[in-house]
Amino acid sequence: MSRYSGPVCRQCRRENAKLFLKGDRCYTDKCAVERRNYAPGQHGQRRTKVSDYGIQLREKQKVKRTYGLQEKQFRLYFKKADRMKGVTGENLLMLLERRLDSIVYRLGFAVSRAQARTLVRHGHFQVNDRKVDIPSYLVRPNDVVSLREKSREIACINESLDSVMRRGVPSWVELERDAFKGSIKTLPVRSELTTPEFQEQLIVELYSK
Ligand code: SF4
Repeated sequence: MSRYSGPVCRQCRRENAKLFLKGDRCYTDKCAVERRNYAPGQHGQRRTKVSDYGIQLREKQKVKRTYGLQEKQFRLYFKKADRMKGVTGENLLMLLERRLDSIVYRLGFAVSRAQARTLVRHGHFQVNDRKVDIPSYLVRPNDVVSLREKSREIACINESLDSVMRRGVPSWVELERDAFKGSIKTLPVRSELTTPEFQEQLIVELYSK
């Protein structure tokens, strides 16, 4: 199935949660979830009873949409997380956070993961001084992610960096704004991944059926 290309706010309204897919607008009162807090479509305001399966499915969709993945990719991450030591749900979130596009977003080079993916694909970033244009590349702690010299004048990247400097980066990453580079200090503990809120154990239950 192809990647979703419709209105992104519709995805947040479907999940009834802010997924932060649209950059600065998500932090204003123009956010669609805050304005119209019900599911999109003709029957969006109907009250319906949701089954356990429905709750688990929605949680899976929420995580999948936040990271902009397709079902097949998402399942592969789940399988990989399941094979790792530790708690499967947490392993899954750590793997998703370690994707290069996600780190580029967390460091503030892009206003959304979708924009980060495009920038990575267009070859604007290096990992440990080597060009990497694969959004799913898994970054390790202490790897240095930097913007290439020739890309440092790009307006949208500079605007995004200025915006993240005002809001601040998460505590588990380190950004050197003037040097256009950053790194993961250490993998985040679960309690540090709070936006958006996920209940990853519901995904484990869904895929364990
Ligand atoms: Fe749209 Fe962002 Fe609000 Fe989601 S969080 S509805 S993407 S403005």
